[in-house]
Amino acid sequence: MADLNITAKLRQQTSSIDAADRDIIALGIAAAAIIMFMGTGGAILPQVFRSIAGLGEAPDTTLINALLLNIALIMFGWRRYRQLQTEIAERRTAEERARVLSETDPLTGCLNRRGLNDETMRLLEECSETGDVVVTMMIDLDNFKQVNDFHGHSVGDEILQECARRIQAQMPANAIFSRLGGDEFACAFRSKPDRRDAIECIAIAIVEEVAEAVTTNKVMVNVSASVGVAQSDMRCVCAEGETGAQTLLHMADIAMYHAKKQGRNCHFWFEEPMEEELRFRNTIEAGIRQGIANGEFVPYYEKQIDLQTGELTGFEALARWNSPSMGLVSPDVFIPIAEEIGAIGELSESVIARALEDARDWDSSLTLAVNISPIQLRDPWFAQKLLKLLLKANFPTERLEVEITESCLHENIGVVRTIVTSLKNQGIRIVLDDFGTGYSSLGQLRTLPFDRIKIDRTFVSNLMDSQDARTIVEGIAMLGKGLGLPVTAEGIETSEILDKLRAYPDFNGQGYLYGRPKSARETNQSLETHGLLAKPAEAEPRLNTSNEPFDADAASQYASAEAARRRKAGNG
Ligand code: C2E
Ligand code: MG
Ligand code: MG
Repeated sequence: MADLNITAKLRQQTSSIDAADRDIIALGIAAAAIIMFMGTGGAILPQVFRSIAGLGEAPDTTLINALLLNIALIMFGWRRYRQLQTEIAERRTAEERARVLSETDPLTGCLNRRGLNDETMRLLEECSETGDVVVTMMIDLDNFKQVNDFHGHSVGDEILQECARRIQAQMPANAIFSRLGGDEFACAFRSKPDRRDAIECIAIAIVEEVAEAVTTNKVMVNVSASVGVAQSDMRCVCAEGETGAQTLLHMADIAMYHAKKQGRNCHFWFEEPMEEELRFRNTIEAGIRQGIANGEFVPYYEKQIDLQTGELTGFEALARWNSPSMGLVSPDVFIPIAEEIGAIGELSESVIARALEDARDWDSSLTLAVNISPIQLRDPWFAQKLLKLLLKANFPTERLEVEITESCLHENIGVVRTIVTSLKNQGIRIVLDDFGTGYSSLGQLRTLPFDRIKIDRTFVSNLMDSQDARTIVEGIAMLGKGLGLPVTAEGIETSEILDKLRAYPDFNGQGYLYGRPKSARETNQSLETHGLLAKPAEAEPRLNTSNEPFDADAASQYASAEAARRRKAGNG
């Protein structure tokens, strides 16, 4: 509102400034009138005075009129001159105001990016004369998007204002402080080159202050900040084509990004290797987007075994990136980045689509397990999307297992429960993956209708060496028994571990002891050797798998047909 008023006033001032430009012509006329007055006045005025004193004849009336006109023009010119003085003063004020506005963030009242850049350049210039350094801190709030999503933008704005106040309160008195946009702040100040300890204290104080809960609008909100620190005497390869101020900000940004990677709510100083890391990440990021489009993400298959009988029960599909430049890349590298850049849904769907196609060729007794990221479970359409993939591949739902990790239980549990319930209604089984790593309580475990628990591989592979691992595996086996949930042990690497696990009835297992995950072609070859490929007569006719738009009716018809088929199978 205030901004609109300022804009209207600025517009008004600009129009009066235009008028002032035009009036320069009027001033010219007045100047000409003065010259004429001096020419004609000198001749006529003495005649006028003589005539008034009765000493001579009255001057010519035309000349008197010309003189009066001259006087009027001079008065008019003087008035315009005064007006112009006022208008020029207003113009200066307007320009100053416009400059301040263009460098200020309207929400917090601190500088914006442009303002910070100009002021940092000024500081750098001053420091080049005194031998001081300029310190820049980049401060980014963690998970601020969720605050906006959960509490709305007006609460979000208040949090930003409060955080700005708290951060600014920790800065040295002469620091330049700015909001770069969104939830990102930066500051710059002068320091002696050897005052790292003092700067460290400021960074720690910022992290601590922001982490204090903010109460606004009767809601208590917790946010935290990641801080990156850089000093102008540090070196950075990235500097090409950048001004000193931009380089400083760039270094602080890299350090801040590193702080995010290290778990957030902390601060880091810029170090050169961080830059290389960031470059690698940018390559991966660009590669992921391109790789999805080029179909470079493919499933590999890891055997799942019934530990008592030693029989193959199915496979877990594990994503691999067949990158043309980097070779076969592990999911530990690309999954977290795909999650961060919002590409995990598309990536996972492309891998699942291929896996469903591949698994159609397997014996119908074999199951297929796919991994789902917690991010995908935030999408209320996830169940429909998965169903569409099943529909396209004409894959029976009861052969599919969806593995979700414990962290899903800490997400928006309402949405997760709806998705899980609709998947279960279609006959898909839900497996809790990596159990034991994510601090799930027993209560949480019962909030979702799981069909199986998978013990995390760290406990299994340490079974022989660690009493703790043995206790945990024992505990999970009892828990599974108590809740009536079958258990899978992942990460079985040796026959000694297998022997230990065989003590538990109804345990399934997987791990390198049974072989590394294999490509679709290798898996098919191995299945063929064991007579476990679907016989041609068994294979159902494939549906059209072209990229047609999502058809909700067809998906629900498929779901009903599947449910009927399962009921029939159950009765039979
Ligand atoms: P996960 O679902 O727990 O998968 C098991 C991981 O353990 C796999 O690693 C597998 O190769 C590895 N593994 C299996 N047996 C052994 C063993 O005996 N010893 C050891 N040390 N490791 C073993 P991978 O393929 O690198 O996958 C890592 C994680 O990436 C997976 O853990 C899963 O959480 C995630 N992931 C894989 N594919 C996908 C996917 O398509 N979508 C999503 N969202 N996540 C995926
Ligand atoms: Mg898994
Ligand atoms: Mg696992």
